[in-house]
Amino acid sequence: MTQPRIVVVGGGAGGLELVTRLGRKLGKRQRADIVLVDRNPTHIWKPLLHEIATGTLDSGLDEVSYQGHSKHNGYRFQRGTLNGIDREARTITLEAIVDDDGTVVLPARQIEYDYLVLSVGSVSNDFGTPGVADHCHFIDSPHQAEAFRQDMLNTFLRYSDPERRTHPKLTVGLVGAGATGVELAAELFGASRMLHSYGFTALDSGKLEVHLIEAAPRVLPALPERISRAVHGELERLGVKIHVDTRVTEANEHGFITADGEPLETDLSVWAAGIRAPAFLSELGIATERNHQVKVNQTLTSVDDDRIFAFGDCAACPQPDDKRVPPRAQAAHQQATQCYHNLRAAMDGKPLKPFVFHDRGSLISLAHFEAVGSLMRGASARSLFIEGRLAKLFYASLYRMHQMAIHGLFKTAMTVVVDGLNRYLRPKMKLH
Ligand SMILES: Cc1cc2nc3c(=O)[nH]c(=O)nc-3n(C[C@H](O)[C@H](O)[C@H](O)COP(=O)(O)OP(=O)(O)OC[C@H]3O[C@@H](n4cnc5c(N)ncnc54)[C@H](O)[C@@H]3O)c2cc1C
Repeated sequence: MTQPRIVVVGGGAGGLELVTRLGRKLGKRQRADIVLVDRNPTHIWKPLLHEIATGTLDSGLDEVSYQGHSKHNGYRFQRGTLNGIDREARTITLEAIVDDDGTVVLPARQIEYDYLVLSVGSVSNDFGTPGVADHCHFIDSPHQAEAFRQDMLNTFLRYSDPERRTHPKLTVGLVGAGATGVELAAELFGASRMLHSYGFTALDSGKLEVHLIEAAPRVLPALPERISRAVHGELERLGVKIHVDTRVTEANEHGFITADGEPLETDLSVWAAGIRAPAFLSELGIATERNHQVKVNQTLTSVDDDRIFAFGDCAACPQPDDKRVPPRAQAAHQQATQCYHNLRAAMDGKPLKPFVFHDRGSLISLAHFEAVGSLMRGASARSLFIEGRLAKLFYASLYRMHQMAIHGLFKTAMTVVVDGLNRYLRPKMKLH
């Protein structure tokens, strides 16, 4: 009997956890052929991107090679970018892979599936604001985070030559005070202090000016007010200039223009104001929302096709209170588990179970300075406010939990030891 084939597209926070579990439980026992498709050769946990963007984390040390990981976890890896689904023939199409000179390395390919899972994440939403695509950095992928880091280092170098300074202070404008904007703002101060200690002496945190611009009346508008207030205070203490109730209407080579016509000149501009699913999802022939998220049932199956599952940031999954599951790593983690059980149920002809999101709380990291957040207490769902070292510890444990899901306990414990050693052996940030 031929094994059913499950193809998972997108090896991110949710997809890699799912494929690891499928590979270990079904792939290794030859009960199913498990295939992971990702456009990148390596995985990096997305909530680390702001640390990669400032160099406080070296992506080379934390990235996971899909090819290497697949060998030990019972699945196969195919590098490629999904751009089409033929639901009748049950095949997906991957774009041709071309090198930097435009030479085709691998032509467009098709892969057959019995079950298809879409977990392709999200991208920043510029809401069509003029100039943003051309003049702002986005921090959506390791590639973009690295591009920001290079530009940041060059800007810092330029600043060290008084003749080449464009402003008396090095000015960074961040649009969007959600988790990405807030964490990046704090991380920039951490990075400037470290760079100062590594010889960028022209720059210190007193010469860095970070503007955080938010259209809502407070920072972290999606999180409880108490967290928002605490984070606001911490950011101001660091020196971040916060502009709430301020809508950016244009970006240009000089910086930003706000709705009341005020210009804000910047040396570096970042857009982190909201997310949407990748636009290609709306061209696959399955129902999507206006923000391109795949419309799924609570069981994570597409409303049009019960052979197609979608979860994580790219799916609009309804909840009993009529809200949608929020686009967060903890939601992708919980959905990966549910998707695994529902795939198995579908293969065995059993009924699928609805996914219910359990909010375990929210934590915001403010570089090495602080972390602030809340944890949910059991079934009562009452939240417990935490900050300082304890919050930092819980924040770090989120990544360790992801590592446990993809590497297991022993390898994760080894990684903790290696990370500790690296703190002594290597510079505290990536400097090249
Ligand atoms: C800077 C930053 C900080 C964050 N901090 C937090 C936090 O503290 N807590 C929290 O809960 N959440 C946080 N988030 C949100 C969290 O990262 C996402 O909700 C989570 O990663 C979503 O997981 P996912 O599996 O849906 O997608 P992702 O993790 O984004 O993975 C998507 C994968 O799909 C691949 N892919 C995309 N398109 C294609 C294609 N066409 N073909 C093939 N492969 C494709 C990508 O390469 C990627 O590997 C943060 C996000 C950012 C950017």
